[in-house]
Amino acid sequence: MNIVNDNTCSWLNNHSKRSNIKTLEKDESCEWLIVGAGYTGLSAARKLSEIHPKQKIIIVDAQLAGEGASGRNSGYLVDTTLNDGFTSNKDLSNYKKKTDIYKLGIDVVKNFIKEHQVDCEWNKSGKYFASSNQKDRKVLENFSKTLLKLNFEHNILEKDDLEKKLGTNFYNLALYTKGGILLNPGKLARAMVDTLPDNVVLLDNSQLNEWSKNSDRIICKFNNNKITTKKIIFCTNGFLKSLGLKNNYNFPLTLTASMTRPLTDTEYKSIGEPKEWGVLPIRPMGATIRMTKDKRILIRNTAEVHNPFKMSKSDLDNRSLKQKLGIKKRFPNLPYDIIESSWSGVVSRSRNGSQIFEKIDSNIYVAGCYNGSGIGVGTLFGEQIAIKASNEYSKEIETIESRSKPTWLPPQPFLDLGLKTRLIYERIRARSEI
Ligand SMILES: Cc1cc2nc3c(=O)[nH]c(=O)nc-3n(C[C@H](O)[C@H](O)[C@H](O)COP(=O)(O)OP(=O)(O)OC[C@H]3O[C@@H](n4cnc5c(N)ncnc54)[C@H](O)[C@@H]3O)c2cc1C
Repeated sequence: MNIVNDNTCSWLNNHSKRSNIKTLEKDESCEWLIVGAGYTGLSAARKLSEIHPKQKIIIVDAQLAGEGASGRNSGYLVDTTLNDGFTSNKDLSNYKKKTDIYKLGIDVVKNFIKEHQVDCEWNKSGKYFASSNQKDRKVLENFSKTLLKLNFEHNILEKDDLEKKLGTNFYNLALYTKGGILLNPGKLARAMVDTLPDNVVLLDNSQLNEWSKNSDRIICKFNNNKITTKKIIFCTNGFLKSLGLKNNYNFPLTLTASMTRPLTDTEYKSIGEPKEWGVLPIRPMGATIRMTKDKRILIRNTAEVHNPFKMSKSDLDNRSLKQKLGIKKRFPNLPYDIIESSWSGVVSRSRNGSQIFEKIDSNIYVAGCYNGSGIGVGTLFGEQIAIKASNEYSKEIETIESRSKPTWLPPQPFLDLGLKTRLIYERIRARSEI
């Protein structure tokens, strides 16, 4: 089955088309093959080229490089994610390990944009974990205790303050964290493609269908040709399972999002001219919603078990309708029909929220499964898996590997059944926040 990205995402459609697109047209052999050209694969390629400037490095993507989840996410480069009630020292230490990885992720993206002078609308605006439901106060208070112990600057805000900052009176309470960046994910992913070093060969629209190991070579079959490689790094995140990788430890989820056209001056004034902001939900199935730098509203309020290879136009239209309603609920005075684009993207999740960073066989490596927070972590894991695969050492690898690994998941059909039931339950719990 071929991966088909819908081509309707404003983050991607608002920049110029690439002119240097090459696909696999003959059999190739190389020292290094990277599968998947999102943040993880592109970052792995950049690091490998630095470590092995004379070796042949190929990176392939089933679609256009950087146009999967990496170019179409919500753009939160996070320093913290919500934890609702960790109290024991063990849990605190686990949470610290997670945030240590986030910090490394922010640093690696920051270094990249500094080195290559990338404009990706980087804004150190912080973020809000917000809710309209007073019942969520306890969750925020517990979260605040955790953040306090780890010295993350934050404060709890009430309805009136929130209305001034966000331009909506929908939310009753929020916890604001000062750390965390908002950015334009399409521009960041595109910059990673455009700055690939010369000794990296990028092949777009080239989907790996099958792979096998034959003594010290790995044979990779594409539609009409094959690539024979010495070492391989899989960076396909939401598509790890479709290549038979870590099957019982991660699963794909499909997310959909919509973005409005820029608000007119009158519309923007009518909501109090708020500065750029980002809200994350307190309940897992609640809406992520952003006011962008160019005064658009972005909303993501679905996460579901869906065929990861393709979402039909009618399925997307249905989800777009939910997003229209989500915007209307928060901004009742804005016109109903201001959505410019809607799109879907695939992420990978594990049961315990841990990521995958592993050598799975000699010369075979996998990095992925960022549980919806892959801008920084994906960029970091790509770079570090390249170091690990080169048999080198780094402090970052130690930090990454000190975290527990993903835990085992039941096989199909029990997995899908369990997931669907859980998602329905979470959606009901979050119904006021969608
Ligand atoms: C709507 C949405 C909102 C999100 N919001 C955020 C957010 O605000 N903050 C955040 O940190 N993260 C967010 N994420 C998650 C984030 O986008 C991902 O974690 C991140 O992009 C992972 O990067 P990656 O390179 O590992 O994977 P991807 O970007 O998914 O790249 C994997 C690539 O592998 C390719 N591929 C798959 N199978 C094959 C194959 N067989 N052969 C060749 N190529 C293949 C795909 O085409 C794809 O381009 C969001 C995701 C979505 C979809």
